[in-house]
Order: sequence, then C-alpha cells, then structure tokens
Amino acid sequence: MTQERGGSGPGTVGRVALLGVPLDENSSMLRGPAQAPGRVREVLFSGSSSDCAEDGTRVIGGCLQDAGDVSPGTGEQAMQEIERRAADLLDEGSLLMAVGGDHSITWPLVRAHAGRYPGLAILQFDAHPDLYDDFEGNRLSHASPLARVMEAGLAQRLVQVGIRSTNPHLREQVDRFKVEQVTMREFSPETVHDFGSAPVYVTLDLDALDPAFAPGVSHHEPGGLSVREVLHVLDRTRGRIVGADIVELNPLRDPLGVTAAVAAKLVKELAARMARDAGATPAQPRSKDRN
Ligand code: MN
Ligand code: MN
Repeated sequence: MTQERGGSGPGTVGRVALLGVPLDENSSMLRGPAQAPGRVREVLFSGSSSDCAEDGTRVIGGCLQDAGDVSPGTGEQAMQEIERRAADLLDEGSLLMAVGGDHSITWPLVRAHAGRYPGLAILQFDAHPDLYDDFEGNRLSHASPLARVMEAGLAQRLVQVGIRSTNPHLREQVDRFKVEQVTMREFSPETVHDFGSAPVYVTLDLDALDPAFAPGVSHHEPGGLSVREVLHVLDRTRGRIVGADIVELNPLRDPLGVTAAVAAKLVKELAARMARDAGATPAQPRSKDRN
C-alpha cells in the first residue's frame, strides 16, 4: 500500500525503514544489546516465519525496507548521530522502525520525530518507568530517556504499560511529568488507549514482557506481559502510530533465540500497523528542513 508523494521526492506513504541502533554503553548493568540488530535481522530474513503480519500485510518484501545500522560512536555524539540518521530517513518520507540497542536510544529517536509530528504522544511498554533524572550520574542512562523526553516537552502525553518497578524518586517524576502509568497490578488487556488524532510513537522495551516470554533481556522482572497481551494492547490502541523502537534485546542472555524471535515478530506487527495507519491517513510528516 504505497502512494506517490506529490512528485516531491522518492518518499512513499507507508514505507517503513528498519534501522539498527547498536549502542549499549548506557546500560547500567550488562552489555549485549548492541548485538541485537543483527540477531533480529537474521530472524526476520531467515524465512523461519511468515513474511506477513497476522492481518496478512506483507512486511518482508513489502512495507519494510532495511536501512542498515547507525554507526553511533559514543556519548553525546552518539545521540546526535542517531537523531541525524533518523531525521534523514523521516525527511525521505519513511516511517521509522528502530531496533536497539539499550533504551537510551529512544531520546534521540523521539527528538527526530517530535519536530516533524506536532502533538506527538508516546506509548511505552516497559517494566521500568525510565524516568530517573540521572542514573549513577549518567543522564543518558537507559534508565532516563523518558525523563529527557518529558523535560524537553517533546511529548504531549506519555502512557506507560507494564510497569512493575518503582521507588519514591520515580513516583515524583511520574507526578512531575503527568505520566499516565498502567502498572501490572492494575493492567487489563481490555483497556483501550485512545490517542485520538495525535501521532503516536511506540517505544517497546522487551523487559515489559514476562521473562517467561522474553528471557533475553538484561533485567529480569517477573510478573510481566505475554506476547499476546502486547499485541492486544496495540490492537486496542486508537491513534496513528508513526514510529517505533524495540529495545533491550540482549543476545548474550538469549541462547535459544526465543527473545530475538519475539522482537522480530513485534517488528513485523508494528511495521504493518504503521504502514496501514499511514495508508489510511493522507497527512505527511512535516519536514523541518524542506517546505
Ligand atoms: Mn525496562
Ligand atoms: Mn526501558
């Protein structure tokens, strides 16, 4: 489902760029997520499962196009490089499906989207709120990206699903940024998240899933979501999903590749959803750099 973009360039509505972001230096405990993009690609393009999402939308050989990996470098420069590469893809008319990397990459990815999608809302799946002002002195920590996003005013709403780890500081941050948090204690798969006409960015930390479903993450936090519950929440999310990332796959903790398979499936389902939403909506991202 593609459509020419008014003759202004090569961009098409509904083209989803798969961008690997192999950065794990902001992980607080373990390294490993930098190896994740390669593992997810292996699964996606191995022919081991359908090329299509569950609704029949063709993803492999269809809406998803591999844009390769960012070579991020380190520190602040890494954040700038990730934002620049993401912005270039958006300016070409692509939608972005990023695969981390640790969760720190969400900060520059949201920066790239926010200027192009006014009124952006964020739907975060995570065991952890990731709202630390800093973690052990690191403001770029994978425990802090949503604090950076919210203090910069880049998201009109932040809805968090799957949360089961908190403390007094994080509760203060939730109040400060008016975060809408759905903890696992109160989770119901029937809840409808209605974002209206707002563009929605989905950030999916695989530790939102129960370790029974996704053991290959750095922080095991039992009591989480099933794969089916994540898909159910997405199905029940009303709004236009314009971008997404899947983060925190740690291949060093995933010897059977189960978690990589989960990540690959979620890539397919999210990419199909974005392509469908874009095809149903004529609105284009507003380029910062072109008129
Ligand atoms: Mn987490
Ligand atoms: Mn996280």
